[in-house]
Amino acid sequence: MIPQEFIQSLLGRVDIVDVVDRYVKLKKAGANFQALCPFHNEKSPSFSVSPSKQFYHCFGCGAHGNAIGFLMEYSGLAYPEAIRALAETVGMQVPETRGRPEKPGSAEAPALTARMLEALSYYRAQLKKSKTAIDYLKGRGVSGEIAARYGLGYAPDGWQNLEAVFTDYATGALRDTGLVIDSEPRPGSENEPEKKSRRYDRFRDRVMFPILDARGNVIGFGGRVIGAGEPKYLNSPETPLFEKGRELYGLYQARRAIRDANQVIVVEGYMDVVALAQHGVENAVATLGTATTPFHLAKLMKLADNVVFCFDGDAAGRKAAWRALEVALPVLADGKVVSFLFLPPEDDPDTYVRREGKEGFAKALAEAKPLSQFLFAELASRVDMANEEGRARFLAEARPLVAQIEAPALAVMLRRRMGELARLSPEEIEQLVPSKVPAKRPSAAPARTVRKATQSLQQRLLVLVAATPEVAAEVPQEVLAGGGADWAALRDVIAFFREDPRRNLGQASAYFEGSDVSALLRVALEDPLFEEASSPDFNVKAEVSDLVERLREAQRSRRSDELLKLLVAGTATEDEKAEYREIAAHQATAKSGNPSPEERSKL
Ligand SMILES: [Zn+2]
Repeated sequence: MIPQEFIQSLLGRVDIVDVVDRYVKLKKAGANFQALCPFHNEKSPSFSVSPSKQFYHCFGCGAHGNAIGFLMEYSGLAYPEAIRALAETVGMQVPETRGRPEKPGSAEAPALTARMLEALSYYRAQLKKSKTAIDYLKGRGVSGEIAARYGLGYAPDGWQNLEAVFTDYATGALRDTGLVIDSEPRPGSENEPEKKSRRYDRFRDRVMFPILDARGNVIGFGGRVIGAGEPKYLNSPETPLFEKGRELYGLYQARRAIRDANQVIVVEGYMDVVALAQHGVENAVATLGTATTPFHLAKLMKLADNVVFCFDGDAAGRKAAWRALEVALPVLADGKVVSFLFLPPEDDPDTYVRREGKEGFAKALAEAKPLSQFLFAELASRVDMANEEGRARFLAEARPLVAQIEAPALAVMLRRRMGELARLSPEEIEQLVPSKVPAKRPSAAPARTVRKATQSLQQRLLVLVAATPEVAAEVPQEVLAGGGADWAALRDVIAFFREDPRRNLGQASAYFEGSDVSALLRVALEDPLFEEASSPDFNVKAEVSDLVERLREAQRSRRSDELLKLLVAGTATEDEKAEYREIAAHQATAKSGNPSPEERSKL
């Protein structure tokens, strides 16, 4: 648990404009900053970042939040991770009230991260000293600039080089980094003496590729042999920091280029990523010695609409591509395009881009096969489509694959194409592979797109206070006496802002995160009035004083109704009679002026 006081002072210290601008280039627009929204596709900017509110808001898709929320949404960080990342940027130390129990016996993640960083600087320094490693990289066309950008290093030959780097080389903490290996002990026998467990460096005589997480922390390494030798690629094992099925090599460096191109290229090796970057193709990432996982794909499809798998042209490459296709089917969405680029059999992306250059690679990319084409071509190639038996076999293989597609439009089109290839009519295909009844969604459209104007005065007031916290001071306590959740939320939010006039919306949203107020606050932020009230032409003060007056009127007429009942029953005290007359007189003068809708309804 991170204490709320810390989160509040953190949000008081960071500037959301700096935070967002690190990932999305912002442009000044009046009092705010603007950009194309990173969370939905658009041609003109509706993503706005307000320095005074310390809040971002997209008026197109409704995405909004504070600096912590932005990091979570943009980088896929968890709440505590996002807070830590943010704290680092302003040099604040996150206090841990209760240490999160990690895996027993393992060192805490921050300690591991620090060790990985030490290893990185060691490997980088070694690269400068190794002519073999430098020659190897030069031979592959890697410049010093790209080597630095990707933090490339060299692990020299030798069994215990890291002993000189880490004073605690022998401890369990170092084992948890995955940088060292403990050999299996063997009890002695008649012919062989006993062998004790021995600790040695995992990476020896290899070019080192640090693997970074979304924050740029080193979480693992990949090492490539320089000459011949097996395995060609060696990765860090899974550690408390490193989970292979979730991480992608090069994503940290490629993120911006991926957004800009709205396309991500998935390759197999680190060297491919580095070589592509060397030739100006900066939107490539690699899986880390594992097949593509649904998690990888979901992550990438959040960043770009086009995902291109580019594997080696050999049989292994085709096999990897087919596996990626199978993973992609259930996560496909209409509007997203997954395609496959097959290089000539003798090539991998590294050799191809070195020979053909950026232009040649771009040309090949443009000819990548869409998933549907690859799917049917591959299946058709396995059978003889010229006869009925072949086509029946084709259908039998295609059916379960196509059935996995949830994207409505794509599913229809692929079923139609499958029928054409099998030479069946649409009716026959429908009979064989019934189209899915679309799953019933909780509501026809997400709340974000159908925005309802708020009705009640207290809801309107909450929107205005959220848009301009200064006005919280101008709402008198006595008009906030209503019962119910929206009244309680309004009172809480006003009290929060009143306590310290420097507080901003970003802080409020962190403060109420997870409480009952949070949901009502979200509704307020999605109200069209919030956007209106955020514009400089909108007179929030006048609107608030009008609302306060209307709340007073509503209160008065409720009170007058109560008093009238007492009068009619004959139980009213003298004070109550006087109060009733006073209210009646007030209402009479108000009516002669400009009656509010509430008053009009009383007439
Ligand atoms: Zn948006």
